[in-house]
Amino acid sequence: MRVQGVAASPGIALGPAFLLKSKDFKVVRRELSGADEAARELKRLRDTIDSVDADLSRLAKSVEHVAEGRQIVEFLRLLLRDPVMQGEVEQRITDELVCAEFALSVMLQDVMARFRELDDPYIRERAADIRDVGRRLLEKLLGTEKEALARSGEPMVLVAGDLSPSDVAGIDTGQVAAIVTDRGGSTSHTAILARGMGIPAVVALGNITGVVSPRDTLVVDGIHGFVVVNPAREELEYARAARAEYLEVKRSMAEDAQKPAETADGVRIELSANIEFPREVEQVKRCGGQGIGLFRTEFIRASMHGVETEEDHFHIYDRVAGAMAPDPVIIRTYDMGGDKFRPGMAREANPFLGYRGVRICLDSPDEFRKQIRGILRASRHGNVRIMFPMITHVEQMRRIRELVSEVGDGLSREGIPFDAGMQVGFMVETPAAVTALDLLLPYADFVSIGTNDLTQYTLAVDRGSPLVADLYDPYHPAVLRQIDQVVRFGHAQGKWVGVCGVMAGDPLAVPLLLGLGVDKLSVAAAVIPDIKKMISAFTIESAARIASEALSLPTGRDIRAMVYSRVAGKCPGILLDENLGIGR
Ligand code: PEP
Ligand code: MG
Repeated sequence: MRVQGVAASPGIALGPAFLLKSKDFKVVRRELSGADEAARELKRLRDTIDSVDADLSRLAKSVEHVAEGRQIVEFLRLLLRDPVMQGEVEQRITDELVCAEFALSVMLQDVMARFRELDDPYIRERAADIRDVGRRLLEKLLGTEKEALARSGEPMVLVAGDLSPSDVAGIDTGQVAAIVTDRGGSTSHTAILARGMGIPAVVALGNITGVVSPRDTLVVDGIHGFVVVNPAREELEYARAARAEYLEVKRSMAEDAQKPAETADGVRIELSANIEFPREVEQVKRCGGQGIGLFRTEFIRASMHGVETEEDHFHIYDRVAGAMAPDPVIIRTYDMGGDKFRPGMAREANPFLGYRGVRICLDSPDEFRKQIRGILRASRHGNVRIMFPMITHVEQMRRIRELVSEVGDGLSREGIPFDAGMQVGFMVETPAAVTALDLLLPYADFVSIGTNDLTQYTLAVDRGSPLVADLYDPYHPAVLRQIDQVVRFGHAQGKWVGVCGVMAGDPLAVPLLLGLGVDKLSVAAAVIPDIKKMISAFTIESAARIASEALSLPTGRDIRAMVYSRVAGKCPGILLDENLGIGR
C-alpha cells in the first residue's frame, strides 16, 4: 500500500516500523501456535509488568516529596499487580492462544465498559488510572518506546503523529532509518529537524499511524514524498536499488565536499548550513559548509531543563563559534511560538499570527538581554553575526538596536571581550518586511529571507497543515516577486541578502535564487554537496536568464516546469522530484 505525503528530508530508506507514542494503540489479534508459545507469551507479559513496576517505582521516587503524587503512583502500582486482572489476561493467553497485547487490551476494554456504568463519580475517575497502567503496559508490549528502539538492533522507521523537539533531541541517528508522520509540512519543525540530522522523512501522511502496525516493513522515499507499507517483492527490490544508487551518488559528491561553492563562471557563493543543535557542527564541516547561516537557537531549549542563564547561552554559542571560526556563524535569537514550543503558552486561535519570535522576546527584556549577552560574548571569536526573527515593525528594530547597544556598553564597562563591529541582521519572513524593507534596512547590516514563513504569510497557507499543503508553494509568483524585491532593496542600500528557508536547499531553486541576485544560501548540512554541484552547473548570466523568465510566468507549476527543463540532465547525480505540481 502506497501513501502519498510531503517530502520533508531527502533520501530513500527501508526498515521495520517503530510506532512512537501512538495515542490509540492498534492492537492486532495474533494467534499463538500452541502451549510453548503461550508460555513464552506469559513470560513476556510478566517481564513487562516487572519493567513497568520498575518505571513506576522510579517515578514514585521522583515525586517522593509530594504526598498526593506518591499516593497516585502507589495506587497505579497496586493496579498493575492486581492478581484478578493479571489472572484474567493470563487465562485468555493460555485458553484462547492469543498474544499478550491482545489479551490485555480485551481485558482493559471490559473493565472500562464496566466502570462507565458505575454511578459513583470517584470510582468512575479511577478508570483513568487503569487506562494509564494499561497504556504503559501496551507501550512496552507493542514496542512503542524509545528504549525499545535502542534495543531493536537495526535501524527502524520512526512512525509518529508528530515529533516534538525533545523526542528528536534524544534520538540516536544510527537507530533511525527514516521518519514518517501524520502531520507537519515540508517546513514544519519535524521536517527541519530530520533534515538537520540527514534522516529521510515524509510528513503530512494523514493517518499513517493508523495504517501501520509495529514491525511492518516500510519503504520511505523522502525525495518524492511517499511511503510504501509492506511492499511487494518487486517494490522492495526497486527501493533497494534506488537507495544504493542514491547512496553512491552521495558518496561521490562528498568527495568534492571541501571544494568552494562556485558558479561555472567562477563566482564564489557563500554556502552555509542551518543548524538546530551544536552537535551538528561536525556534520556541517564534513559536508563542506562554509559557516552557519542560521542557528535556530529555540531548539536548544529542548536540551536545557528549566530557565536558561546567560552562561548557558554563552557556552553553547561560544562552542559553535569557536568550532567554526573563522567561518561566519549567524545566531538567530529565539523564535518560539507558531508550531514551536507551545507548552505553557497561552492558547491562540492563530498561533502563526500570534505571540511569536521577537514579539515574545521584546516583552521579556531581561530574558532577551541574557541571550543577546551570550551571543555578544561569543562574538569574541570575530565570526559571529546576530539575527532577529519575525520582524514586521520599524519600532521592533529600533528597540532591538537599543538593546544590543546597551548590552555591548555593559560588556565594555565590565571589560568582557566582544566584537564591537558584530553584524546585525533580521529575517525577512512577512510581506510587511518585504514591502517596507527600505524603512527597516537602515537598522541592519544584512537580511536573510525566510522563505518558509514568507510563503506561508504571503499565500495565507499554514505551513504545517496537511489540508492546505497543496497550496503551499515557494515557487508561486507572489513569493518569487518578493524575493526579487528584497534583493533589489537590499543591494540599493549596500546590504547583502541571503536565503535560509528550505527553498535554498531545493536543487531546483538554486539557479532561480542565484539569478535573482541572492548573495548567500544557507541549507541543511546534508544537502550541501547537492547544492554545491548545482551552483557549479550555471553561470551567473544563465541563472539570471532563468530567473527573468520565471518572473514572467503565471503559476508556480509553470515556473517549476521551466526551471526543471533547464536543470534536468545538468547534474545527473541529483535526484529531483519530477512531480512538478504544487504541493510539496
Ligand atoms: C523561514 O521561515 O524560512 C525560516 C528559515 O525560519 P523557520 O523555519 O525557523 O521559521
Ligand atoms: Mg521563519
